Amino acid sequence: MRVYNTLSKRKEEFVPLTPGKVKMYVCGPTVYNLIHIGNARPMIVFDTVRRYLEHKGYEVNYVSNFTDVDDKIIAKANEEGVSSKEISERYIAECKKDMEAMNVRPATTHPLATQEIGGMVEMIQILMDKGYAYNVDGTVYFRTRKFREYGKLSHKNLDDLRSGNRSLLVTGEDQKEDPLDFVLWKPKKEGEPSWPSPWSDGRPGWHIECSVMSKKYLGEEIDIHAGGEDLIFPHHENEIAQSECCNGKPFARYWLHNAFLNIDNRKMSKSLGNFFTVREISEKYDLQVLRFFMLSAHYRSPLNFSADLMEAAASGLERIRNTVSNLAYIKENNRAEASAAANLTGNGDGTGKKSSEKQNDSSVAAGMDGSGIDSGRLEESEQEILAGAKAFEAKFDEAMDDDFNTADAIAAIFELVKYANSHLTSENSPELIGTVRDEIVGLCDILGLIVEEKEELLDADIEALIAERQAARKARDFARADEIRNQLAGQGITLLDTREGVKWKRA
Ligand code: AMP
Ligand code: ZN
Repeated sequence: MRVYNTLSKRKEEFVPLTPGKVKMYVCGPTVYNLIHIGNARPMIVFDTVRRYLEHKGYEVNYVSNFTDVDDKIIAKANEEGVSSKEISERYIAECKKDMEAMNVRPATTHPLATQEIGGMVEMIQILMDKGYAYNVDGTVYFRTRKFREYGKLSHKNLDDLRSGNRSLLVTGEDQKEDPLDFVLWKPKKEGEPSWPSPWSDGRPGWHIECSVMSKKYLGEEIDIHAGGEDLIFPHHENEIAQSECCNGKPFARYWLHNAFLNIDNRKMSKSLGNFFTVREISEKYDLQVLRFFMLSAHYRSPLNFSADLMEAAASGLERIRNTVSNLAYIKENNRAEASAAANLTGNGDGTGKKSSEKQNDSSVAAGMDGSGIDSGRLEESEQEILAGAKAFEAKFDEAMDDDFNTADAIAAIFELVKYANSHLTSENSPELIGTVRDEIVGLCDILGLIVEEKEELLDADIEALIAERQAARKARDFARADEIRNQLAGQGITLLDTREGVKWKRA
């Protein structure tokens, strides 16, 4: 597996520090408002990276913080006349709801900056002791020029950075030794949340939070550190400086950055006001469509948000979902099942279904020859079809192994869908149809895309539906009876008509 590393500006073979395990840190949002779909891009992208690593057999320790102390949170709290805590707690809860709706799994740990202040004070003290930090009137700065490798992630030259930052010298920051020095700790202002420290009652700078939380929950050296590309400089550059100077070890092996989600080719951001919240999008679309849209592009390519592209994503996802439900349908109406249905319902065509009720997909030929196959073993011709289908799995993995190329991985899923539509009919065995269906669902699941009805039916609901189906059959309402059978099939419930009555099992 090869991943693009911002540090080397190259794709590198992925080798974790400990075989079979991955330690991964993703910078999370600052919580003062509902998240916008630009913020959702790293969430979806790196959740997919995590899922793929797990698919490859790695055990992933995934840490993603919430920045719950910040100027913007304080400003919002003052605006509403409530505490910062109330604001951050409210928007963490809202963010978690959005994540769930986008099928972004909760991190192994979601640390909160305000719960980790002790660790931050400790790390700053170590940096002071080692001469990497200095205190001016209660504000502690990092002595950037002392870290020789500063600029290695953003590939910036220190001298260029200095001349570019000359203006800082005349903007009231002249208490710094150097314009490039950045804040580790700042004293409180009136009405701000604060914590005691050896230097002043105050609060930490933003960069130190991630260095500390990453160290606490993952250790001094980690495998992957990720976030949006706007974090490369200065946030991640500063994190490297703090962590490596404190710990005397390389911080993260692989630095992954997603490109921006744009709107009219400009970065979507709160400050520009050109954003849609995830919540707004959810009023118009199933958020699986948003996820599909995000993954249709490679994570390092800029992605322009538009209604047309969302519509295209909606119909792409629908195409996959249609095939998945058609396969469930033809699996239930294949030769073996159909002959049983014919015996019971006696409607003449052997499918247990009126022709008007048949699915309109032309590939779904509902004919049968009455022989029935109910063996776990596939005939040779079916083994060939299966091998053809499995080839798309290899294609999917190949795309994902190449720096998580979800665009090509989705293309492989579409090819598999097309293949299934043209190769599978109700003439095939339920084993083959079920296996290909599971393959499509499984590949989508690696990307976190839900393509089958997930609503869990309770046993009592299933029993009630079965009773209703029996009554419908008694009343010779075969259309309704079949509708119920298909509804259950779509949820992975198989009905078995036996001499003792109807039995059912979950897939
Ligand atoms: P913030 O709350 O601004 O710190 O952002 C949280 C995460 O969202 C960071 O990883 C940012 O890089 C990322 N992000 C913010 N805006 C965008 C955007 N328009 N496109 C992609 N990622 C973004
Ligand atoms: Zn961070």
